[in-house]
Amino acid sequence: MTAPALNTSQSEAIFGAAQALMPGGVSSPVRAFKSVGGQPIVFDRVKGPYAWDVDGNKYIDYIGSWGPAICGHAHPEVIAALQEAVEKGTSFGAPCALENTLAEMVIDAVPSVEMVRFVNSGTEACMAVLRLMRAYTGRDKVIKFEGCYHGHADMFLVKAGSGVATLGLPDSPGVPRSTTANTLTAPYNDLEAVKALFAENPDAISGVILEPIVGNAGFIQPEPGFLEGLRELTKENGALLVFDEVMTGFRISYGGAQAHFGVTPDLTTMGKVIGGGLPVGAYGGRADIMGMVAPAGPMYQAGTLSGNPLAMTAGIKTLELLKQPGTYDKLTATTQKLVAGIKEAAQAAGVPITTASVSAMFGFFLCEGPVRNFEEAKATDSERFGRLHRAMLERGVYLAPSAFEAGFTSLAHSDADIEATINAFRESFAAVA
Ligand SMILES: *Cc1c(COP(=O)(O)O)cnc(C)c1O
Repeated sequence: MTAPALNTSQSEAIFGAAQALMPGGVSSPVRAFKSVGGQPIVFDRVKGPYAWDVDGNKYIDYIGSWGPAICGHAHPEVIAALQEAVEKGTSFGAPCALENTLAEMVIDAVPSVEMVRFVNSGTEACMAVLRLMRAYTGRDKVIKFEGCYHGHADMFLVKAGSGVATLGLPDSPGVPRSTTANTLTAPYNDLEAVKALFAENPDAISGVILEPIVGNAGFIQPEPGFLEGLRELTKENGALLVFDEVMTGFRISYGGAQAHFGVTPDLTTMGKVIGGGLPVGAYGGRADIMGMVAPAGPMYQAGTLSGNPLAMTAGIKTLELLKQPGTYDKLTATTQKLVAGIKEAAQAAGVPITTASVSAMFGFFLCEGPVRNFEEAKATDSERFGRLHRAMLERGVYLAPSAFEAGFTSLAHSDADIEATINAFRESFAAVA
């Protein structure tokens, strides 16, 4: 079935003008649709599970602002709380009681977190946690995994996922070789490779950082024993284990992936959901390690807008909504229904697919699977993914414009939204078969 033509003339005009004003016309690379072809859609407003573009087209949205919108976009209770908070000012640059409230909520929820520091983005959280790993251990090297994304700090731009993978960029120019010389990489789900790195670099590795479920190389889950093995290896080698839960925190479960898998890291980074749609990141962990952070200790890290009352308010209200009983069961049921429908739709069209989901996070690769690491993810059919993405857009479904990103559902996605999405998948898979 052919879709009605999508009129995106306003989007094209605005994006055309943007290209002369901002590099690539965007404020963050993956938004430019480079890997799926076509022009990006310029949004006008978002509400619940929907986004409307500047031409008046409506989409069911599975990006959710790349994660924060887990309660649905512009949730009325979050908006009301923000409206009340804004009357008291947008930023204090001084302590504010709301920081205590959100800190207590995070400490109660996330098993590894005994103390927390708020920052303004996931990148900032990861950058700071890296400094903390080195400060605490007195060692300079770090192990990361191919395809994992930890923001855009220099030391992490080695075999990184997300937009870096999407654009096929090598390690970015401008990153000193002396910096990345301290970044060691291993394939995801490969404990032996990590073991070998520890053996080759005795007493030099500060720790291991990873996405406990990968969402930036497509959706890849840890195999049984992988997280547990990393926990043991880091302990044996006097190194720290860090879960980057910027994406998975409060999404996989209220306590993040670490609560879901029952593996407790030493330190954790957070972002996305924790800010409820405002710029917030956080890092936290064992109190003895967090005691290194200034002004309690010597490791410097600061922020003009960190912990501001608006960001704290959006985070607190979002976590309150998520904490209610049944939330994650509902998210899981919604996502499982969607993923089963995607799989069936692909199979009906004869398109090879492997799909998976945990709670409100899902993914699919256009291959038989299984996909256990970034090498295998890269081998999938990205040309067909581009055509599928366009076909879905024409049918009113907004998927991440890259085969190397996870999808996100929210509490606002209804059964009817999921059914409409599956119908769109049926038609789109048939169109790209
Ligand atoms: C998004 C993301 C980051 C970076 O967060 P920003 O807020 O975009 O700076 C870091 N780590 C992971 C796992 C992410 O998904």
